[in-house]
Amino acid sequence: MCRKLGFGKHLECAAAKATTIASLSRLMPNIGGLRQKKGQLLMSVEQSQLLYASPIWASALDFEVNKQELLKPQRLMAKRVACAYTTVSTNAILVVAGMLPLHIMVSERKAVYVAKKAGSTLPTKRELREDSMNKWQSEWVQNTGTGGWTRRLIPDVRPWVSRSFGTINYHITQFLTAHGCFGEYLWRFKKRDVSECHDCLDPTDDAEHAFFECDQWWRLRRELEVKTGKEFTPDIGVRRTFLLRVHSKNRLNISVCYLASSHITIRLC
Ligand SMILES: [Zn+2]
Repeated sequence: MCRKLGFGKHLECAAAKATTIASLSRLMPNIGGLRQKKGQLLMSVEQSQLLYASPIWASALDFEVNKQELLKPQRLMAKRVACAYTTVSTNAILVVAGMLPLHIMVSERKAVYVAKKAGSTLPTKRELREDSMNKWQSEWVQNTGTGGWTRRLIPDVRPWVSRSFGTINYHITQFLTAHGCFGEYLWRFKKRDVSECHDCLDPTDDAEHAFFECDQWWRLRRELEVKTGKEFTPDIGVRRTFLLRVHSKNRLNISVCYLASSHITIRLC
C-alpha cells in the first residue's frame, strides 16, 4: 500500500502488478490445461495479492471506475479458469468460473475489519459468504446489459457456485457463454461471411440453435431426454442444468451430459 498514491491510483497499480496471471496463463491453456479446481486454487493466490489491505481502500470502490479496475485482472483469471473466448463479458465469465467478484470480497473483509474495530461480535465465515452470494445474485439479476444467454441458463448463481459436480472446460464454457464455435458468433466478430448453420442452413447458428434446435443433433438430444426423462430446453435453469461435455473436431457435437438439480445429480455418461 503506497501512502503517496490515492486509493484509486493504488488500485490501478495493484491491478497492473498482477503479473503472475500472465505466467499462470501459460500453465492453463484452453485445451489440455489444468482442471477448474486447480486453476481456481492458483488464482486465489493472485486474488490475495490484489486484496492486500483492502479494508483500508474499500471506500474507493464506491466509484465504478475503481471497481472496474479491480475486476480487470480477475476477468483474466476467470477466462483462464473457464478456458473462455476472450470476448466474453466480465459478469458472465465470473459466474461461469464460479469466482466471487473481488469488490464483493472486499466488502467481506471490510465487514470483519469494522466489527473488530468496534469491538463487536465478528460475523461468521458462513454468514459473510451467504451475504456475499446474495449481493452477487442481486448484481447478476440487475446487470442485464451483457451475459444474457448465460443468465438464461444460470438464473441463480448460488446453487451454480455451490454445486459439487460438473467441472467446466473449454467446450462447456462455449455452451454457457455462447462465445465460441457458432456461426452467429463468428459472423459477429467478422470471422465468417454468413451466420447460417452449415449443418441445416438455418439463418442463425447461435448456441441456442446448435444445442437445442439444430436437426443435425436431434438424435443426441432425444437420447438425452429419454435418459433423463426431462425436456431439454435452455430455460430449465440451474435447478435442472444440463452440463454438456462437447467434443469438437469439425463441429460442436453434443456427446455427454450431466443433469443436475438442487436435489439430484444424474451422471449420464
Ligand atoms: Zn443447424
